[in-house]
Amino acid sequence: MSSKRKITVAYGDGIGPEIMKATLDILEAAGAQLEYDVIEIGEQVYLKGISSGMEPKAFESLRETKVFLKSPITTPQGGGFKSLNVTTRTSFGLFANVRPCKAFSPFIKTHFPKTDLVIIRENEEDLYAGIEHRQTQEVVQSIKLISQPGSEKIVRYAFEYAKKYGRKKVTCMTKDNIMKLADGLFHKTFDEVAKEYPDIKTDHKIIDIGTALIADRPEVFDVIVTLNLYGDIISDVAAQVTGSVGLGGSANVGEEVAMFEAIHGSAPDITGMGIANPSGLLNGAIMMLVHIGQPEVAEKVSNAWMKTLEDGIHTGDIYQEGLSSKRVGTQEFAQAVIERLGQLPVNMIPASFDKEDTKPMDTRLRPRAKAKKELIGVDVFIDWNEDGRDPNVIGEKLRQANASGLQLQLMTNRGVKVFPAGMKETFCTDHWRARFAMADQSIVSHAQILDLLDQVGKLGFDFIQTANLYTFDGVRGYSLAQGE
Ligand code: NAD
Repeated sequence: MSSKRKITVAYGDGIGPEIMKATLDILEAAGAQLEYDVIEIGEQVYLKGISSGMEPKAFESLRETKVFLKSPITTPQGGGFKSLNVTTRTSFGLFANVRPCKAFSPFIKTHFPKTDLVIIRENEEDLYAGIEHRQTQEVVQSIKLISQPGSEKIVRYAFEYAKKYGRKKVTCMTKDNIMKLADGLFHKTFDEVAKEYPDIKTDHKIIDIGTALIADRPEVFDVIVTLNLYGDIISDVAAQVTGSVGLGGSANVGEEVAMFEAIHGSAPDITGMGIANPSGLLNGAIMMLVHIGQPEVAEKVSNAWMKTLEDGIHTGDIYQEGLSSKRVGTQEFAQAVIERLGQLPVNMIPASFDKEDTKPMDTRLRPRAKAKKELIGVDVFIDWNEDGRDPNVIGEKLRQANASGLQLQLMTNRGVKVFPAGMKETFCTDHWRARFAMADQSIVSHAQILDLLDQVGKLGFDFIQTANLYTFDGVRGYSLAQGE
C-alpha cells in the first residue's frame, strides 16, 4: 500500500491552474507524500447547468479523501448559481473558517508590522443559511439562525486552536447590544466555554468597534472568534491592513472533511500572464500539510517561502522598488522557494510545527440539561396597506380577534411599537406585527393560536408569518419591541 496521502485537488478558474501548479511543484520538491484526485469545479461546471458548480463525482472524491486543496473559481454573473464555497462548507459540515493574518514587514509593505492574528469564523450558520422571503409588496426578510451547538463548536475550536498554537488571548466579537438573543447566545456560550481555559485571556468587543480596532491597531489581537457574517467582513479587513491580501491562506475545517485555499479570487485581470503570486494557495497548502500529519514538510515549505520573501524575490503584486531584489513570475517564484528548501528565514521567526499540531482538536459538545419550554403567546405578522397605514385602525380591528382568549398586547412596525400609544412620527411600512398573549400571561395551546389565526383571516387580514412566544425554564425566549 502506498504511504502517500490521497487528497482532492481542483485547479479552479482564472489564475487557479497557474498557482496550483506552482504550489504542487513546491510540495513535491519538499517531499510531501501526496497523491492527487483531480476534480473539475467552477465556471465550466456551472455552465454545464450544474448550479452548485460541482459534479456528483467531486462530492464522492471529497467523501473519500476528506481533504480538499482548492484553487479559486470564477462565479458566473447572473442568478441561479449557488456559491460553491457555501455548498462545500455546509454539505460537509466545515464549521470553522481559519484565517491567519500576519505581517511580513519589512519585506511586505504594511502600516502594522506587528500584526499576527488569526480569525476563526463560524462557517455554517447566521444569515448564510440563505432563508429569505418577500412577504409584502415592500418588505423582504432574511433569517439569521444561531444555534447553541454551532456556537459551542466554533468557540471550542478557537480555544483549542489557541492552546495548540501557544496563543495567549481569544477575543469574541458580536453585536449583542442589539441582537440580544442571537448574538447574545454566541457571547454567552463564549463566556461559558472560556471558563474551561483559565490560562487563556479572554475579551469581548462589539463588532463595530472591533472592526475599527482591526483597521487601526491589529497588533492588539491574537485569536478572534466571531459569527459568520462579521467573520467574512473582518477577515478581508484584517488581510488588507496586514498588506497580505495576495498572501493569505485559509482553512475550512469540519469534523471529517477539510478544505484549504487562498483567500483571494480567480484574478481574471491577470489570468494567463504567468505573474500571479502563488503564496496564498501555498499558505493554504501549508495548513493542509499540518492537518494531514506532515508537519515537517509544512515547516520546511513555510521557512523556504519566508526566506524567499526575505531575499526580495517577489511577484509583481508585492514588488517594491528599493526593497525587492527581483521581480519574478509565478513559476520563477516557485523555483526560488524550491531552491531555498532546507533554509530558514533570518529576520522572521521560523515556522515550527510538530506532531502535536496535527492532533485533531476536541470540539465535542458537552451534554446539556433539557429546558422546560412553555408557549405563552404568538406574534402574527400581517401584510396591510389600508387606511393610510394608521396603526390605530389596524390595532383596533385586531383587538376584535379575542374569541380564543388571546388578546392583542401591542403592534410593531419594523420592530418599533406603534400601538397602543405609538408615536405619530414613526414611519410605517406594509409589514406589521401583532403580539397576542393571555391577559395573565398564562400558557396557551396550539388550538388557541389556530383559532386566533382563523379570526384574523376572517377580519380580512393576510397573515404572512407567525412566531410562537416561548419561555425556557421560565426565561423569556423572545425580544421585547422597541418602546415596549
Ligand atoms: P480577486 O481576488 O480575484 O482579485 C482582486 C485583485 O487582486 C485583482 O486585481 C487581482 O489581479 C489581484 N490578485 C488576486 N489574487 C492575486 C494573486 N495571487 N497574485 C497577484 N494578484 C492577485 O477578486 P475579484 O476580482 O473580486 O474576483 C474575481 C473572481 O473570483 C470572481 O468571479 C469572484 O467570484 C471569484 N472569487 C472566488 C473566490 C474563491 O474561489 N474562493 C474568492 C473570492 C473571489
